[in-house]
Amino acid sequence: MKAVQYVEIGRAPEVREIPIPEPKPGQVRLRITAAGLCHSDWFVMGLPQSVMGHALPMTLGHEAAGIVDKLGEGVTEFSVGDDVAVYGPWGCGACDECTRGRENYCPNAAKLGIRPPGLGAQGGMAEYMIVDSARHLVSLQGLDPVEFVSLTDAGLTPYHSIKHQLANLPAGSTAVVIGTGGLGHVGIQILRALTPATVIALDVNEEKLAHAREVGAHHVVLSNADAPAAIRALTGGVGADVVFDFVGAAPTLETARASVRIDGAIEVVGIGGGSVPVGYGTVPAGASVRAPFWGSRSELIEVLALARTGQLKVSVERFDIADAPTAYARLHDGSIVGRAVVVP
Ligand code: NAD
Ligand code: ZN
Ligand code: ZN
Repeated sequence: MKAVQYVEIGRAPEVREIPIPEPKPGQVRLRITAAGLCHSDWFVMGLPQSVMGHALPMTLGHEAAGIVDKLGEGVTEFSVGDDVAVYGPWGCGACDECTRGRENYCPNAAKLGIRPPGLGAQGGMAEYMIVDSARHLVSLQGLDPVEFVSLTDAGLTPYHSIKHQLANLPAGSTAVVIGTGGLGHVGIQILRALTPATVIALDVNEEKLAHAREVGAHHVVLSNADAPAAIRALTGGVGADVVFDFVGAAPTLETARASVRIDGAIEVVGIGGGSVPVGYGTVPAGASVRAPFWGSRSELIEVLALARTGQLKVSVERFDIADAPTAYARLHDGSIVGRAVVVP
């Protein structure tokens, strides 16, 4: 089968021919219908071997949807032919967090060497994929896999972050979204669907700002050193109730720090290497900073249900599997508007 693989540290991803994998007891094989590209793939491909800590080659793709193709011994929860999406943050399955469906916060996964598909385990950007357990599968229930596969990360991650802040986003409040790419453009729509907040979107790219407005941002602001003043002006001098930073680099976190209101909150979703100083006088009084990771299985079920109401649309640029390396290059140079999705 064809698979998009990260083969060697520092080398761009490649399309390779590899054997179709067989499911072991408890596992499920999917015939992949769609797989999304995420900026985190580039983060992983930028790590030195000592930090990355898992074997190569690795098939990329942590946003995956497919049709159940073959069941490992003992699997009874799904049938061949079912249309499913993959819940990506795999945990131990046995601890309190995993039992609650919050495998994204499993305290045992790292020490047991359990890694998400495409981020350590073999991923979904291939013709077939092995999913370690049926509990990682969620039925698509009629959603088109190409249009909605990215909700497994670009939807789930902002949904988890926004849900945590719902009490801080009442009528009259303001939410700032920094970075309106894959996660950000879905985040804006989730904010509009779940809250009455005014949404201010920031990006460095004018085309992405126009897109942010199309998907529901009330105001758009160019992301630069003047952005905090623009946010203050739009909020009557008060600042933002919650800043969602989908970039997480030093300059965007400085914007977040400088534009959050007293007793407000900063959600650092992007992994761009920046940090926010927290301590007396460094952030406004009462302000909190949180670094969320992905989301829970129940939140994935919820975000898919929200899409079924028609309130979420992922702007998808579709690529054949042979063109996946081009798609990765385009994601790297910032020219994908919305999400790139590979169709094997
Ligand atoms: P993306 O490339 O699709 O979007 C990033 C956007 O940020 C682009 O529109 C880009 O123009 C914009 N941008 C870049 N520099 C900027 C700046 N200085 N100011 C404002 N905007 C700027 O990326 P993505 O796939 O949406 O991922 C976003 C980030 O979230 C990445 O760092 C990714 O690794 C991370 N991520 C984190 C989690 C988590 O669980 N915490 C999950 C998924 C992705
Ligand atoms: Zn991701
Ligand atoms: Zn666990």
